[in-house]
Amino acid sequence: MKIVILSRDASLYSTRRLKEAGEARGHDMQVIDHMRCYMNITSHKPTVLYQGKPLEGVDAVIPRIGASNTFYGTAVVRQFEIMGVFTANTSMAISRSRDKLRSLQIMARRGIGLPVTGFAHSTKDIDGLVDIVGGAPLVIKLLEGTQGIGVVLAETQQAAKSVIEAFRGLDANILVQEFIKEAGGMDIRCFVIGDKVVAAMKRQGAPGEFRSNLHRGGSASRVRLTPEERSTAIRAARAMGLRVAGVDLLRSNHGPVVMEVNSSPGLEGIEQATGIDVGGKIIDFVVKQTAPKNTQQSDNDRIKY
Ligand code: ADP
Repeated sequence: MKIVILSRDASLYSTRRLKEAGEARGHDMQVIDHMRCYMNITSHKPTVLYQGKPLEGVDAVIPRIGASNTFYGTAVVRQFEIMGVFTANTSMAISRSRDKLRSLQIMARRGIGLPVTGFAHSTKDIDGLVDIVGGAPLVIKLLEGTQGIGVVLAETQQAAKSVIEAFRGLDANILVQEFIKEAGGMDIRCFVIGDKVVAAMKRQGAPGEFRSNLHRGGSASRVRLTPEERSTAIRAARAMGLRVAGVDLLRSNHGPVVMEVNSSPGLEGIEQATGIDVGGKIIDFVVKQTAPKNTQQSDNDRIKY
């Protein structure tokens, strides 16, 4: 099977692992930089070109699109979908997952447990916004932030007001969230493939740090999920329309709550913490989904742009 990994950098751990796992299973694996692809979007013969040549005979695509390239990267994925190529995640699902507010709205509509969250455009309504989440302490998040940057814990009402005003003064979009204190600086990453959680790890923040991001000094280890956590992660991925997803949960007093759903979850942390061959499981899933051509075609036909 010919499988294309869309990635900007062939030396990244996740990209390398996917390539190795595919090759070990006898597939023709090609790493393609989506930002260097160009497209013929005419209707009779849609094509993706790379280094002067059309990409032909591709059976499946595994997108690894970075947050800063979502617009162009998803256009390339969409072009493959139009060509009838199976994609590990659809362009629409990737686009949705990149918008934190939209993601939370989609999951709320499906009744998935979320931290109580408020959002406003105007700073005139700060008091109302703070009331929504039950007052301080509360968490303020930049909508565009990643790796814990732009996630602030405001311990008092006054601190919350100042931070919200400062962010809004910079024209940044923010959301305000109830602080899940009982999580104790720990979150859980569930790696979902299809309708299964194939691996899960807990990440614990450095002492005194409420953010558990590994980039902020957190440490990761294997965790056993409760049935409720497992089903919450699967429902979250399904609500987002993601076939491969990293679902981040917090253990709250009112059950598991979803913080975020990632459409290009990294493999390094989860494989090291759990010893599970997650890369291999992605390849097996993609191959299985791609095999019956007719099913794959009708699946892509259902995609709305
Ligand atoms: P990013 O996408 O930048 O990683 P997150 O929303 O995942 O931002 O937040 C970073 C970390 O901060 C989380 O992994 C979690 O440990 C902690 N955190 C985020 N939101 C909350 C919250 N509402 N209550 C408690 N801890 C939180």
